[in-house]
Amino acid sequence: MVHVGIGYDVHQLVEGRRLVLGGVEIPHDRGLDGHSDADALMHAITDAVLGAVGEVDIGHLFPNTDPTWKGAPSRVFLEEAARRVAARGGRIVNIDATLVAERPKIFPHITAMKANIASALGLPPTRVGVKATTNETMGFVGRQEGIAAMAVAAVDLPEPAA
Ligand code: MG
Repeated sequence: MVHVGIGYDVHQLVEGRRLVLGGVEIPHDRGLDGHSDADALMHAITDAVLGAVGEVDIGHLFPNTDPTWKGAPSRVFLEEAARRVAARGGRIVNIDATLVAERPKIFPHITAMKANIASALGLPPTRVGVKATTNETMGFVGRQEGIAAMAVAAVDLPEPAA
């Protein structure tokens, strides 16, 4: 039976940080603030996968009070979510995600992001959707105070024995 999950994440744009989205380091005058590499796209997808299998969210699995995850590449969070799906005998069907960023331009990096996400989840890139949009200058994204990401995941899980 196919289960769906949803994920959302946002991080502040600050000076003196790298901008990493979908595992791609994007040249920009500011980067996302956070305990790990603050890859909002991978975080949203991690939560979508965890949600589909009814697990606790990324903040509880990888607390920002734990020095283990300081500066961690967010790929490890995706890999752990995929491991939990496999442990349940499940299979990720597909992922879809949208980045909401006023700047910089995301489109040139989408293919590389899909490849990184797919490889962390053990999927072919054709099963990973990544789109990007601006917020039309409105709100915190429009003022370039932060970048947001949302994602859904479909996971095929075995039927529980009756
Ligand atoms: Mg996050």
